[in-house]
Amino acid sequence: MTASVASNLEQVKEQINLACEKVGRHPEEVRVVAVTKYVSTERAQEAVEAGLIHLGENRDEGMTEKYEEIGDKATWHFIGTLQTRKVKNIINQASYIHSLDRLSLAKEINKRASKPVKCFVQVNVAEEESKHGLSADEVVPFIQALEEYPNVQVVGLMTMAPHTDDEKVLRNCFKDLKKLQQEIQTLNLRYAPCQELSMGMSNDYQIAIEEGATFIRLGTTLVG
Ligand SMILES: *Cc1c(COP(=O)(O)O)cnc(C)c1O
Repeated sequence: MTASVASNLEQVKEQINLACEKVGRHPEEVRVVAVTKYVSTERAQEAVEAGLIHLGENRDEGMTEKYEEIGDKATWHFIGTLQTRKVKNIINQASYIHSLDRLSLAKEINKRASKPVKCFVQVNVAEEESKHGLSADEVVPFIQALEEYPNVQVVGLMTMAPHTDDEKVLRNCFKDLKKLQQEIQTLNLRYAPCQELSMGMSNDYQIAIEEGATFIRLGTTLVG
């Protein structure tokens, strides 16, 4: 039998509390995005009823299908690779886009949005070939170039850590993202407050929290 989302959430909350306690953070600083890409609309509904208001999807079809049922009872996060031609399908649903990684995408978001969209710049901190995102040294010039697009608001940085159990590798990845965030904050760009860090998944979220995550994206461990 599949565990209820509520009972999974209870365990996740315990882990969040422990991780926060270790480093003196407040658990309210960490928001959970329930990644529902593998599960049904019913299961996503269950997540909302359990109190998870942030839902994450990585395909436009998946988001639209669930949005039609759940609508504004949830805050929607687009977390996957976003093709430019699909921006129009999700722009009125997603409050957050976690995967901004190129100017052509920024241009399209800017054009389609009727108000500023909260975006995370996706960084491939570990420089893995299989992953999307900018390399660390591309991030500052990229964000500087976004000034042209007033509907793109850079609320933070996002990364996916390498798939490994090596705690040191994971920790360094998150630390590097945090450093980059601080670098951007010193630029004092009106359109890039960059106060958020979207990092940590089922496999590594406790470490991400210790290193400063403000949004963790949980699929398997939370909803299945
Ligand atoms: C699928 C996915 C997640 C959630 O992964 P889990 O390991 O199931 O928690 C988080 N972030 C992104 C970008 C994803 O594609």
